[in-house]
Amino acid sequence: MPTQSRLKTDFCIAGGGMAGVCAALSAARNGASVILIQDRSVLGGNASSEVRMHVVGADCSGGKPGARESGVLEELRLEDAYRNPQRSYSLWDLLLYEKVLLEDRITLLLDTTVVGCETEIVDGVTHISSVQAHRESTEDHFTVGAGWFADCTGDGRLGFEAGADFMQGREDRDTFDETLARETTDRQTLGSSILFTARHYPDPQPFVSPSWVRPFKASDFVHRAIDGYEYGYWWSEWGGQLDTIRDNEKIRHELLRIALGIWSYIKNSGDHPDAANWALEWVGAIPGKRESRRFIGRHILTESDILKGRIPADQVAYGGWAIDLHEPSGVDVPEKPPYTPTHFKNLFGIPVGCYCSHNIGNLFMAGRNISASHVGFASTRVMGTCAAGGQAVGTAVAILTAADRHDHHALEASPNLIEALQQRLLHDDAFLPGLPNRDTKDLARNATVTSDTGSGADRVVDGITRALKAQWGPWSEDAAHCFEATTLPACLDLTLPKESLIETIELTFDSGFERPLALTPSNWFTARMTRGPQPELVSHYRLRLDGQVIIEASGNFLRKRVHRLSAPVRGSVIRIELLATHDSPVARLFEIRVY
Ligand SMILES: Cc1cc2nc3c(=O)[nH]c(=O)nc-3n(C[C@H](O)[C@H](O)[C@H](O)COP(=O)(O)OP(=O)(O)OC[C@H]3O[C@@H](n4cnc5c(N)ncnc54)[C@H](O)[C@@H]3O)c2cc1C
Repeated sequence: MPTQSRLKTDFCIAGGGMAGVCAALSAARNGASVILIQDRSVLGGNASSEVRMHVVGADCSGGKPGARESGVLEELRLEDAYRNPQRSYSLWDLLLYEKVLLEDRITLLLDTTVVGCETEIVDGVTHISSVQAHRESTEDHFTVGAGWFADCTGDGRLGFEAGADFMQGREDRDTFDETLARETTDRQTLGSSILFTARHYPDPQPFVSPSWVRPFKASDFVHRAIDGYEYGYWWSEWGGQLDTIRDNEKIRHELLRIALGIWSYIKNSGDHPDAANWALEWVGAIPGKRESRRFIGRHILTESDILKGRIPADQVAYGGWAIDLHEPSGVDVPEKPPYTPTHFKNLFGIPVGCYCSHNIGNLFMAGRNISASHVGFASTRVMGTCAAGGQAVGTAVAILTAADRHDHHALEASPNLIEALQQRLLHDDAFLPGLPNRDTKDLARNATVTSDTGSGADRVVDGITRALKAQWGPWSEDAAHCFEATTLPACLDLTLPKESLIETIELTFDSGFERPLALTPSNWFTARMTRGPQPELVSHYRLRLDGQVIIEASGNFLRKRVHRLSAPVRGSVIRIELLATHDSPVARLFEIRVY
């Protein structure tokens, strides 16, 4: 008989992929208690060492320079690049673990699977009252009661158990008036893949192929480039013609046959003699899954939202990845390309309604299971966008909990709550297209900023924390939005309208959004990044208040820095001295906030 435990929290999150982790961190940092339930031993989902997919997002791996997600994900990316230049997936797993561990308000249940839930009716609306979770390794069974729940499981297990309405498969053109949709509706989805990594050795390495692998020939790869050996192929995809949840075991076996069959072809066909010294190092054991259930929210994101670059008034996240549709049965149809991407130049906003189940009043979702059509999902499914949504959901829960609200309908009913949520997201370094900092508590917004040693000093209080590109949408224009100094040291003086009590000073630096940044086994992709501290980041700086040094920081590797003074201090002129970058002649500062 397992040990039965009852736990209580503000916010219970099922699933610890990038969406779940970012939801947990932002909820906890904004004051909510969190229980994060993850069925594996590591966090990160498809980005973890178990699958090894790189996190990409709105900047299209560098195709839309400058559009990279900021906020929690940027903190993770920067810290990983700094502490893990060698690209160890175990260190990335451990970074996610450490970030969660260091938040006092988060209880992490690893190796624990959400298997069911209880619901109740509150004011005529179904709510989840508790979830049932099981940890086999310790023979524990948990009942977790909470005011708020989020389904970040990818597959949507919690919402499914709660009776949340969902979609599965591909809608036809008429359903959402989508030109990229199929003529007829079907139950097929994008397929799953098993990836591998390989190493180059000084001597030739044989590959003794197992007898059960899938045979491949050169004509199978006409549309599928074998363009490197160190990292498996995203197009080794299969299983979307089946049920990616119920048939997962069958799909796993076939994906192993496919991954090893491709490697056997590379090593033993004679078509790739330059692969002689390469040998497999790691082969995934769980299928990386692209698609299963998509919940129906208060808004369903569709093709036109994306291609028209809609920025809804209640946006809480954004995207920009191509509409990246795949052939469900993947390598079974070698005569067809594995994907048909539709590229666009703009960014698009994701309204809060995509994260709120339309029939379960206290259930949010974040990740690939958000409320989007199959075509819409094909853009929002990338993990940068999933992480931005996770941050939005976690922050929303913290705000609703503090406001003693119990149904996410409150968000749509109250423009003040949406404004508070958006401003909190911006404060926490998220990006919302076209929305500037309007935080009335930020003393810097009314300050005068001057500098003799650089240009654009007043831009550090213009409310925008990145360089914008005109092609991102009508709300945008080509503008730098930063103070820039080409010689160091440089300094700015921020003069408040009157002497004020100062508790916190916050700085947002340039961390190189013009380049991609991700952990990836791909050497080609890595060559376009800097692994280590980002060269343009200001590494050493000093803050003075009315001439007195109050903060000096060195070794900085983060974009957003928050300095809480040990005790509030009265003053009116804050001087920011930029003393050194990691490895760039130019230092940039996007924002100063003062509280
Ligand atoms: C081969 C492949 C290539 C891809 N290429 C890219 C790419 O290049 N870049 C990119 O950003 N995205 C890519 N994607 C898409 C992306 O990986 C997924 O859309 C993404 O993982 C979705 O994130 P998520 O947090 O929603 O889900 P997941 O990453 O799947 O995380 C969900 C987590 O919840 C856990 N979980 C599930 N059920 C339960 C339960 N009942 N109880 C507790 N925990 C549970 C899972 O174990 C998992 O860890 C690719 C996907 C695949 C498969």
